Amino acid sequence: MRIDLHSHSTRSDGKESPTEVFEHAAAAGLDVLALTDHDTTSGWAEAAEAASRLGVGFVPGIEVTTVAKVTTNQRSHNISVHMLAYLPDPKHSALEQILGDSVSTRQTRAMAMVELLAKDFDITWDLVLKQIDEGATIGRPALADALVEIGVVPNRTAAFESILSKNGGYYLPTETVDVFDAISLIREAGGVPVIAHPLGGAKDNLDRGDLPHEHFDRLIAGGLAGFEVYHREVPQVARDWLLSLAKKHDLIVTGSSDYHGVHGKPNRLGEHTTSPEMLNRIIELASGSQAIL
Ligand code: AMP
Ligand code: FE
Ligand code: FE
Ligand code: ZN
Repeated sequence: MRIDLHSHSTRSDGKESPTEVFEHAAAAGLDVLALTDHDTTSGWAEAAEAASRLGVGFVPGIEVTTVAKVTTNQRSHNISVHMLAYLPDPKHSALEQILGDSVSTRQTRAMAMVELLAKDFDITWDLVLKQIDEGATIGRPALADALVEIGVVPNRTAAFESILSKNGGYYLPTETVDVFDAISLIREAGGVPVIAHPLGGAKDNLDRGDLPHEHFDRLIAGGLAGFEVYHREVPQVARDWLLSLAKKHDLIVTGSSDYHGVHGKPNRLGEHTTSPEMLNRIIELASGSQAIL
């Protein structure tokens, strides 16, 4: 069984429709794929239909944009945490509310970034909107695509490594739901919260990761169900540490690609996978929606 529990479509920042994503999943020999667009469930229906037609299993999910307020060396700062929510009820009103809020906050933030970029480059908001489907969740990738179109950078990756990086001079944070509130809400909606690419910022030293590790105990106490340990952005030191933490607390461990389309990001479908046992645990814990297997 090849199970990949993290992918994006044109409903957020992927480059392929939900149907195309599942066509690629079938071609890649995947047995199960989760569609986890940023802050939206709008791709689920199309994904379910394509998956059934193609004989690929479908797990509905969301990658929820959340923020962790952490204090290190007596200084408090906000860290962006992506929380995967598997099988939540898409009609749970409080969850729908925070997703809607996040989509509009992301839009305001993207517009503000475009304003900063427009001082130095020939970028406009219309050009950015042209890069995405109507109603899609916007993020830096749409800005990257606009910068590619006007010839400032050759591709998305180049944009992320320079102008659009956190230190690139144009970056603004996205102020969204607190990570603890998100975990509670996902649980309330019958979903299973799993941190996406945890400690993705860590290199050789865990303390430089994107979340100080004392914080993880509080997240677990708050209802976190698991970690996406096997992901290209999670370095080996972090994997080892997360695996021992997962073992200690009997948590779920997943592995996934974070596919954004052939031309969206280098991540390839099935490059990391999740065991059938772990998928079963997710399904048993969930009560908000149904996987199609
Ligand atoms: P944002 O949430 O708007 O700050 O943008 C972050 C998103 O950009 C993430 O969800 C990634 O999927 C995407 N991203 C990050 N790095 C890259 C890259 N090198 N190439 C393409 N997309 C990227
Ligand atoms: Fe993304
Ligand atoms: Fe993410
Ligand atoms: Zn993702």
